[in-house]
Amino acid sequence: MAALAQYSDTRLQSFDWARDIATPAYVLDVAALKRNLVRAAEIKRETGCKILLATKAFALPAAFPLMRDVLDGTTASGEYEARLGRDEFGKEVHVYSPAYAPGEIERLTGLAQHIYFNSPEQIAKNLPVLKAHPGIKVGVRINPGYSNATLGGALYDPCAPYSRFGATRDTLDRVPWDAVDILHTHALCESDDAGSIGLIEHVARNFGDYVRRVKTVNFGGGHFINKPGYNIGKLIAAIKAFRSAFGVEVILEPGAGLVVDAGYLVATVLDLHRNEKDIAILDASASTHMPDVLEVPYTPAIIGADAPGKKAHTYILGGKTCMTGDIIGEYSFDQPLKPGDRVIFTDMMQYSFVKNNTFNGVPLPDLAILNEDQSYKILRSFGYDDFRYRLG
Ligand SMILES: *Cc1c(COP(=O)(O)O)cnc(C)c1O
Repeated sequence: MAALAQYSDTRLQSFDWARDIATPAYVLDVAALKRNLVRAAEIKRETGCKILLATKAFALPAAFPLMRDVLDGTTASGEYEARLGRDEFGKEVHVYSPAYAPGEIERLTGLAQHIYFNSPEQIAKNLPVLKAHPGIKVGVRINPGYSNATLGGALYDPCAPYSRFGATRDTLDRVPWDAVDILHTHALCESDDAGSIGLIEHVARNFGDYVRRVKTVNFGGGHFINKPGYNIGKLIAAIKAFRSAFGVEVILEPGAGLVVDAGYLVATVLDLHRNEKDIAILDASASTHMPDVLEVPYTPAIIGADAPGKKAHTYILGGKTCMTGDIIGEYSFDQPLKPGDRVIFTDMMQYSFVKNNTFNGVPLPDLAILNEDQSYKILRSFGYDDFRYRLG
């Protein structure tokens, strides 16, 4: 069995499974997901709102039975995710895309019951198709002009200047409101309760005339409801106040907020290198397995490790690609690292495996599930064929 890089850390005593599992592997922690779902269930119970999973952030069919018990369905960014939601999750399927490809709306009418559009013109263009499917609820995404995204600056702010998302205020009188059921707004990213409440109150204050024309308001994703410090009591109060002011149904569609801190990426130290600093090369890579580390950018947490210099042994951790910038971060450990040590990155369920790639022929991590009794199951392993297939 491999050693865990920091087995002296008491938290690691519950990570025996990580010494044994083949790496690299993304591992969903079922107990953690269940804890997250309890909070979603409470928000639903207290407010009567609906909560959808945004599959953009997390699309793991093996977890859907668990999530389906609590959530009302999924929200998709286009045809393929809508089909995944319908086939694998069931319940309601909502879909929003900033633009639809030719024929996509026709195909979506067989997959989704709620289709959202980005502009009055898009709705007008598709009204003939939609009229032939009277069961389909029509949504319009508005750009509320409310910025709160807590990471990445404009990169993750749907209301950043010149954003392509949502009908701007000056176009809203052109929306055929009689044909619209849902007013949609997605403006947050990893936002705390103040952000969620701020958005809800902003819409109430500035878009009330439009809210009164619909049956449902969808406040999008980015509500970081399971991040420590997020006060769901305040969110509940804000949704209740909004519902009683306008008499509408409310939908939330978080992705990250449902699966934050609900799993790991387990990696192995392949080798050590020295170039003025100590460097450890892993079988996991920022470029291919944790693209957000480079895109946001941020430094993911490792169980038992600390910031550089805090513990006795500091290393730069990098991937085995030949991309110079494939650096995960710099960390310190109690013990020196050695080849074969396991390193456990936390919070690796959101925007991780859904975004990975086979750049440089780097093997894709396995997908695995850690059960509540600490047994684990490999859902899928990947090999050369997965790399080769996409090259035509
Ligand atoms: C990305 C996205 C979500 C989910 O966002 P999270 O930050 O993962 O909660 C919800 N709705 C829309 C329209 C999105 O684009």
